[in-house]
Amino acid sequence: MAYGFDTLQIHAGAHPDPATGARQVPIYQTTAYVFRDAEHAAALFNLQEVGYIYSRLTNPTVAALQERVATLEGGAGAVCCSSGHAAQIMALFPLMQPGCNVVVSTRLYGGSVTQFSQTMKRFGWEARFVDIDDMAAIDAAIDDNTRAVFCESIANPGGHIADLRAIADVADKAGIPLIVDNTTASPYLCRPIEHGATLVVHSMTKYLTGNGTVTGGVVVDSGTFDWSASDKFPSLSQPEPAYHGLKFHETFGPLAFTFHGIAIGLRDLGMTLNPQAAHYTLMGIETLSLRMERHVENATRIAEWLEQHDRIAGVTYAGLKSSPVYDRVAKYCPRGASGLFTVKLKGGYDACVKMVDSLELFSHVANLGDTRSLVIHSASTTHRQLTPEQQQAAGASPDMVRISIGTEDANDLIADLEQALAKAG
Ligand SMILES: *Cc1c(COP(=O)(O)O)cnc(C)c1O
Repeated sequence: MAYGFDTLQIHAGAHPDPATGARQVPIYQTTAYVFRDAEHAAALFNLQEVGYIYSRLTNPTVAALQERVATLEGGAGAVCCSSGHAAQIMALFPLMQPGCNVVVSTRLYGGSVTQFSQTMKRFGWEARFVDIDDMAAIDAAIDDNTRAVFCESIANPGGHIADLRAIADVADKAGIPLIVDNTTASPYLCRPIEHGATLVVHSMTKYLTGNGTVTGGVVVDSGTFDWSASDKFPSLSQPEPAYHGLKFHETFGPLAFTFHGIAIGLRDLGMTLNPQAAHYTLMGIETLSLRMERHVENATRIAEWLEQHDRIAGVTYAGLKSSPVYDRVAKYCPRGASGLFTVKLKGGYDACVKMVDSLELFSHVANLGDTRSLVIHSASTTHRQLTPEQQQAAGASPDMVRISIGTEDANDLIADLEQALAKAG
């Protein structure tokens, strides 16, 4: 029987604890697991038997979360990591080698722009930034050394929606996977695998946990990409020396990427999510659909109100009829365009800073996707390391404020914005 999303967000991956019958997923606060005997230990270490060895690789609380997110995204498997940034490295690690490149959208979270353009260089990986709405530019940027295309489904901060199907078609034609950062949408609003994505990454720090308590990430694999169709992905298709010549794709089929992520990625990069964090995220996901509905309802109402305000020069919310990507909402996120957008103030930089400083109910923080409403001036914070051109392309120019609408009473949020805009002058 195929359960609906509201049922799966509570039950997927969770089973009554075999030892105690505990209904809620226990926090398995343990580093290691006792082997039945030496033969059992050897089989586990050889990946001949699936089980628990050491919590850098696998942990039952984390495993429940992996299964839940994979189910909600419609994937075959998932690997949880210590942060959204860790998830991005973990997604690329099995695909890339020195000299390889990834074609990346300019409309990304500022931290991701820096991670891709600066830090990945030190691994010998190149990031080629393109306008993700320009299919010819994506196609032109791809060459024999390209191993993936990377974009955000709903972009942070501007809320721009990518034309996932068109981008997936370009990646497909080149025989490479599309990786989609689905952080701002969450699987309740957008399911990138249904639109052709191979891998989906999340900062679980945001909507999945949903209340600003955890730093975490996840990579979900669709399980449908043929890693052996070309010689581009030897880590997955060729013998792995560290496991006696085991070939991940041949051995694990649709779970090849997931097993590689755990057996090589977590083992050697060590970007592991801890069980306490997994517990908080499991708690958060139980109410994901309820929260996302309220985020969307509040954001729609507030974006419409802000658009009419005489101190506002523009609102980027994709759920507004005036948005250039409004027609993509019905196709890619029919339940709404999430709760994140930017507003452009007529008073420019100074008015933005004054507005942020004057808000009382909104918190001035570097986070999004919280039940609390949050605000930040992206250009001077999250997108600070970027050049003015990069800021413009990312949708984070200095005259804009990013707003993450929470699940509070919308009337209270509007009243707070009203008084802050009055002071911003
Ligand atoms: C926050 C964020 C990240 C990074 O996630 P962390 O959990 O902070 O490492 C990546 N992508 C997007 C869209 C984000 O908003």
